[in-house]
Amino acid sequence: MGADSPSTKKGGIPRVELPADARLDTLAVREGLPATPWGENSEALFLTSSFVHPDAATAARRFANEEEAFVYSRFSNPTVMMMERRLAALEGTEACIATSSGMSAIMLLVMGLLKSGDHVVCSRSVFGSTIKLLQGEFGKFGVQTTFVSQTDLTEWKDALRPNTRLLFAETPTNPLTEVCDVAALAEIAHGHGALLAVDNCFASPALQQPAKMGADFIIHSGTKYLDGQGRVIAGAICASTRFVDEVFTPVMRSVGMSLSPFNAWVVLKGMETLSVRMKAQTASAATLAAWLEAHPAIERVFYPGLKSHPQHELAMRQQGGQGGAVVSFIVRSDAERPDDRGRSAAFHVIDQTTICSITANLGDTKTTITHPASTSHGRLTEAQRQAAGITQGLIRVAVGLEDIEDIRADLARGLNSL
Ligand SMILES: *Cc1c(COP(=O)(O)O)cnc(C)c1O
Repeated sequence: MGADSPSTKKGGIPRVELPADARLDTLAVREGLPATPWGENSEALFLTSSFVHPDAATAARRFANEEEAFVYSRFSNPTVMMMERRLAALEGTEACIATSSGMSAIMLLVMGLLKSGDHVVCSRSVFGSTIKLLQGEFGKFGVQTTFVSQTDLTEWKDALRPNTRLLFAETPTNPLTEVCDVAALAEIAHGHGALLAVDNCFASPALQQPAKMGADFIIHSGTKYLDGQGRVIAGAICASTRFVDEVFTPVMRSVGMSLSPFNAWVVLKGMETLSVRMKAQTASAATLAAWLEAHPAIERVFYPGLKSHPQHELAMRQQGGQGGAVVSFIVRSDAERPDDRGRSAAFHVIDQTTICSITANLGDTKTTITHPASTSHGRLTEAQRQAAGITQGLIRVAVGLEDIEDIRADLARGLNSL
C-alpha cells in the first residue's frame, strides 16, 4: 500500500484493548470501539447524521481523508464501525463494510470491483435475488454472468473467460443445502487472476470462515443469523483493508447503500449470541433431520449433517463438523392427487403446524417453515423449478430455539395425517 493511501493516515480511532490471541467467542462479545467517557457497558447507539469538528482546519483534514474521524453517517458512524469490526473479527478478515441489506452488499461488491465488459461466474443455486441482480441489473450495465453447477468444479473452470474477474458462490444454498468446495473455487479463481466472493449467510462465521479457505470477499445478509432474531435488514462485505478502504468505501461515499446505526446496533448485539445460537439451532436441526429421514411420509431429506447428503464429507470438513440450522425435505405426494406433484401434501403439513412461523425468512430464534416452489421460487416457471430441484413437495424448515420436541410434534401432526 502506498505511503499516502487513506488507511495509513488513519489511527485516529482507537481500538478496544483485547489480548492479541483473544478467541472468537470473546471477540463476538468484546470487539468494537472503546466505551465513551461515560463508561457505558453496553455499546452506545450513535443516532446522529453528522459529527462536529473542533475547527475549520480539522474539518478540512478530515474531509480530505488525512485524519481518521467520524464525519457523516453515510460512510462513517461509531455504532456501524463497532459492528464492522466485530464481524471482521468473526470472519477473520482485516476489515468489513456494512450495508443496508444483504442485496446491497452484493451491489457494492460488483460496483466496486467490476466495469462494463467484465465477466462473472456464479453458481446457479445462489439466492434468487442474487441471480436477478447479476443477470438483470448488472447485465444492463454490460457485466455478464455465466451460471454454473454449484458442485461441478469442471463447469466453473470451463466458464472462465479472459475477462472473468469474479467468481461468486454461496454455501450451503437455499433451500437444498448444496455445498460447494470453497478452497477449490479459490484456487480456480486465483489461478485465473480472478477473485472469489462467498455468501456466508447460511453457515455464518460460527460454522465456517471462508476467508481461511482463500475467499477474498465474504458477503453477509445481517438479516439472518447475525441479527438472529428476525428484527432488521442489514448486510456487509468482509475483505482486506485495502479493498474496504480503497475500493468499497469510495463507492459507499458516493452511492450511499449505508446501514442505519440503529440496525447496526441490533446486529452488533445479535453477534454476541451468534455462536451459542448456532450451536443450539444446529443440534436441534440435526435431531429433526434424522427423525424426518426415518419418517414414512418423507421421500427425501436435504441436510449436510446427514450421511445421505451428497456433499456430507465436504460439508463436515468445511463447516467444523456442523450441518447448520436449515433442513429441507420432500413429502410423499398424496396418492389421490398425483397431478399436483406433492403440493397439496406439502401445504397440508405446513398448515397443520401451530408453532412454526409460515414465512420465507430464516436465521430467527423462531422456527420458520416455507414452501419454496410457491414463495421464494414462485417466479420461476415449473420447468426452471424442476431443473433447480425445487419440487412441489419440498418444504424448508429453518430451525429456531424452541424445544425441538415441540417442533417435531408440530410437524408430526401433518405428516402423520397425510
Ligand atoms: C437473505 C439472503 C440474501 C439477501 O439479504 P437481504 O438482507 O434480504 O437483502 C442474500 N443471500 C442469502 C443467502 C440470503 O439468504
